[in-house]
Amino acid sequence: MSSQPALTRLPEPVPDARERAHGRAGPVSLRWGEVRASGAGLAWQQGGRWHARLHLWSGARALRGHWLWRTECDGTRRLHWRPDHGQSWRVRCLPGSTSLRFPAFGEPASRRPPCVLRIALRASPAGLALLRRGLWPLCLPSGAAGQAAGAAHVVAWADLPFACSPVAAFVRLELAGVLAGEPAPRAGSDPWARWTAWAERQASDTRAVQRALEVHDADLLIDLQDFGAAARRAGLAGYAPPIAQPDGVRRYALVDAQAACDQMTLAHELGHLIGAGHAPAHGVASTLDRLAASGRPIGARGLACASARGWQSPRRGVQTVMGGLGADADRVYETLPLWSEPGLTWDGRRTGDVGTRARGARGVADDAAWWAQAAPGYRRVRGHEG
Ligand SMILES: [Zn+2]
Repeated sequence: MSSQPALTRLPEPVPDARERAHGRAGPVSLRWGEVRASGAGLAWQQGGRWHARLHLWSGARALRGHWLWRTECDGTRRLHWRPDHGQSWRVRCLPGSTSLRFPAFGEPASRRPPCVLRIALRASPAGLALLRRGLWPLCLPSGAAGQAAGAAHVVAWADLPFACSPVAAFVRLELAGVLAGEPAPRAGSDPWARWTAWAERQASDTRAVQRALEVHDADLLIDLQDFGAAARRAGLAGYAPPIAQPDGVRRYALVDAQAACDQMTLAHELGHLIGAGHAPAHGVASTLDRLAASGRPIGARGLACASARGWQSPRRGVQTVMGGLGADADRVYETLPLWSEPGLTWDGRRTGDVGTRARGARGVADDAAWWAQAAPGYRRVRGHEG
């Protein structure tokens, strides 16, 4: 496979410190020879080369799906492709040169610099091993450097929906640090009950949460576990307990490390912490949803949000980040790295338009315009580097 191409053209400006650590995330446009496609993606530099992970859903059929540009540990370049997240990666190549662009948004929704939410990952021994090994087929440096790089990828991928949304882009995520944590109990016959109970105990230990946040000057603490593929299917991939810390803010969630990237689970739980609920038709009327409906401040910065919802298209088998579990929970939806919102397009269509059509059948609302509405009350906590 010596003909494997590099990404020949990539982001031109010298990245700032945040991008050096987390990569550049956002809407992408890929040209490969004569064909083009667009979607969302992440590009980062490692070992002096650009690497990228892309999710393309609009444009030439030959390019649609998930792409991963990477360099093997022996220095050879490999290009991996899979049609959707439920399938395995395969090596693929097309003729011609490649270039990747990160198109700029049009008119920015807000002139304010983004507010950065800093995330501390507290990983179980198995979660730490996953971070070191890399959650995608990546070749990471050994030891602590590899662990930090793996953790940065987890956070960068959860940042993607923010980076892809003109109205949400005033919130960006940043890895604050990695801590060693305890393993959750084994799944047993009822992983949902076991793991939610465990997560609620962790969130209730407010002193421990506070200590973990202070160690890395973080806003949110995420317990990262390795539930294993079978348990992930049978149980849960993530959970944000409705328990607030002493300052009245929910700052804790439990997430499976692999699902954090493959199913956007970390982004989903962060959505809960910030205040978003599920699609209302899906019967997951959680405590969170009731709190949100009552207008109580629940978000990481005390935001209340009664209306931010996920969007699902049963016909197309895709959902936005807050799509959540449906009555057809056995069905695997592909989660787009997008918040549903008016004005955001998917596959050439506005998610608002598609959601409106879906609403009749499934009662699915999509209204993440609250990101923009909430902005004036959103306290800016840190400046944006660069
Ligand atoms: Zn949820």
